[in-house]
Amino acid sequence: CDFSTKFLRMVFSDDSLLELLELEINALKSEGITSLPLSRDYKTLFNDIFAKHSKNIIKINVNPKDVIENTGDSHSKIKLPHGTKQEQYEWLKSLVLHDEECLRHVRPGKKLVFGVGNLDAKLFFCGEAPGADEEIQGEPFVGRAGKLLTKIILAMGLSRDSVYISNIMNWRPEMPTEVGNRPPTQQEMTFCLPYLCAQIEIVKPKAIIALGATSVKGLTGDESIRMHDIRGKWMLFKDIPLMPTFHPSYLLRNNTNATKRLVWEDMLEVMSKVGLPISEKQKRYFL
Ligand code: URA
Repeated sequence: CDFSTKFLRMVFSDDSLLELLELEINALKSEGITSLPLSRDYKTLFNDIFAKHSKNIIKINVNPKDVIENTGDSHSKIKLPHGTKQEQYEWLKSLVLHDEECLRHVRPGKKLVFGVGNLDAKLFFCGEAPGADEEIQGEPFVGRAGKLLTKIILAMGLSRDSVYISNIMNWRPEMPTEVGNRPPTQQEMTFCLPYLCAQIEIVKPKAIIALGATSVKGLTGDESIRMHDIRGKWMLFKDIPLMPTFHPSYLLRNNTNATKRLVWEDMLEVMSKVGLPISEKQKRYFL
């Protein structure tokens, strides 16, 4: 029951509730039950607890909706459990991967996609939504655009593992066909945004790089944004500097040195902002 106890400790900060839950888990343990898969059996466990301790417990439910609090503005906020960054990350990832609404959008045999990378990263790259390769591998930016993003990160003198990479969306927006992508709707992005915000809260990056207009629209909720107006100009997202730049897919379609230079200038700005060293050679890339 170790895993479940750890999970419950993260979900419930109230010690008296936790004690009751641990009591129940120990009882199960003495009956020889050694593990409780989170996805299914925890519901049964909690139902048993309700039945036995209903006088003491007002309400316990770990439906994802219940760890999401409405902050009064248009955004909901995930209440992260106490714990290390790694524990918070694992908890959040599990929440997303078991979210019924997210799962409802996944095609058979495909995967939801959650952010990856260094939880102490200075830089947080945010794309729009997983594509075909990402929903197969369950990892953001692993297809053609992802390979280009990795090249950009390397050119900045960093490794892919040293930054954090995520998307507004956790699922690939459905299309009638297997091929082709569509941008997520504002409604879809609003649903997934709390999960992204919680990742930002865990990582606490020094800068966010928003890849493409859709990413900026998802983060800000402002549908009127045009990338050509805002590219390269610092914005703030929850007090964190945010740099909007072209999406790597746009670079793949507009493969000129002039466009590459624009993105590179944005990256030089970012590097300077977070105190990364910049060589003379780096300053001249794509000139
Ligand atoms: N494009 C995105 O915005 N995100 C990915 O993960 C892949 C492609």
